[in-house]
Amino acid sequence: MSKFDYDLITIGAGSGGVRASRMAARTGAKVAVVEESRVGGTCVMRGCVPKKLLVYASSFAHSFGDARGFGWDVAEPSFDWGELIANKNAELNRLEGIYGRILRENNVDLLDGRGVVTGPNSVEVGGKSYTAKRILIATGGWPHLPDVPGIEHAITSNEALDLDELPKRIVIVGGGYIAVEFAGLFNALGADVTIIIRAGNILRGFDEDIREALAAEMEKQGITIHRECVVRSIEPEGDGYSVRLHGTEIIDCDKVFYATGRTPNTKGLGLEEVGVTLTDKGAVVVDEYFQTSVPSIFALGDVISRIELTPVAINEGMAFVATQFEGRPTPMDYENVPAAVFSQPPVGTVGLTEVEARERGDVDIYMSRFRPMKHTLSGRESHAMMKLIVDRASQRVVGCHMVGDDAPEIVQGFAVALKCGATKAQFDATVGIHPTAAEEFVTMREKLPDHDEDQ
Ligand code: NDP
Repeated sequence: MSKFDYDLITIGAGSGGVRASRMAARTGAKVAVVEESRVGGTCVMRGCVPKKLLVYASSFAHSFGDARGFGWDVAEPSFDWGELIANKNAELNRLEGIYGRILRENNVDLLDGRGVVTGPNSVEVGGKSYTAKRILIATGGWPHLPDVPGIEHAITSNEALDLDELPKRIVIVGGGYIAVEFAGLFNALGADVTIIIRAGNILRGFDEDIREALAAEMEKQGITIHRECVVRSIEPEGDGYSVRLHGTEIIDCDKVFYATGRTPNTKGLGLEEVGVTLTDKGAVVVDEYFQTSVPSIFALGDVISRIELTPVAINEGMAFVATQFEGRPTPMDYENVPAAVFSQPPVGTVGLTEVEARERGDVDIYMSRFRPMKHTLSGRESHAMMKLIVDRASQRVVGCHMVGDDAPEIVQGFAVALKCGATKAQFDATVGIHPTAAEEFVTMREKLPDHDEDQ
């Protein structure tokens, strides 16, 4: 009989922690997962899922407008924020129940409370000590708020998903995934949205043409983007707030929303005390098999700050289980991880940006900008942009990017092609599906003229 209470104790019942726990339990291991909040973690409770439901809600605003061009006489629609939030919360409760059931059905014990690592093989939960052969840290991250006078008045994505009412004017600080997604949905629902970014454009790290195309679409829809701009202070003013910018400008609004990145949840977990090395930003340092500097302690998901995406955490969880419980050492493959931004219109992307690809060698660029067929009748001034980046020597497609309706759905499929190392000739040999936007990816024949980037 094992000298430990468990073969594995996981701290954090989010996407990565739940997947690793239940897959480990399926191998016959005795597993417990510790959770101080709701089972499901950021993605299900405070991120991807509720955000996408709100994005769906906001998409109707566009649809009602578009319908007129197709002959529909749509009476002035009305929208009830309270009903949306109540329905969204009911769905989250349902999902929480499903996650709990999955754990139970896989014989994973759920330990309710905050877990603290007290030794290489011990975890304390609610004053009770448990031992485990292996400990997995899957505690995710939490919104990071910079040190700005009045920052205590700001909300984050946690609160934005549960506001009592829809703000009329909202200032969003940051230009990453969360900022542009919430800007799009609040704008579509009727709020006056201002984004404040310290950089020259939104979505740092994405392909430059994608950044420009999305920013242009957002501005066309009425979202104001203040570039190269820093917030000096936030002060309460009447029922709302005054946001002072670094010049003399002041923006009055009902809510100030900070979406300035996320910090790994490692504070107070006891990790450094037992010898687990953290980065200067607090992320757990792990090797390719998710092992920390303490051999019996592992970590994965947002807490290791590699790629902060749910499907990445899930795949890391499966690689961890294969390595530790199935005798198959499996590193995670971080090449060609596709991603989407549920902005309006959305972004889908996989592979290298043009800048990254040019750093590796010569490239051929194919690009298409067009007005989607739907908008010829809807009358909406919305454009799509698609771009392929091809390594000139091998002719492999190394980057595939799109801004436009359905981009996330479209790019998921093309991610398989990139994973298989598909060449431009193989894209060209694929027959398109007509009439779709996706067919552009297999019908682009004219490469952009070569240009010297320094010119
Ligand atoms: P991001 O890292 O994507 O963006 C952070 C933004 O905040 C950047 O624009 C950054 O500016 C800005 N910023 C950072 N610090 C400051 C500061 N001190 N003052 C002003 N601006 C600042 O973080 P998010 O919070 O948007 O999202 C966190 C992560 O969650 C994402 O990276 C992503 O991995 C994940 N996520 C994924 C989603 C999806 O898959 N659809 C949806 C939502 C989140 P700069 O550009 O200058 O660095």
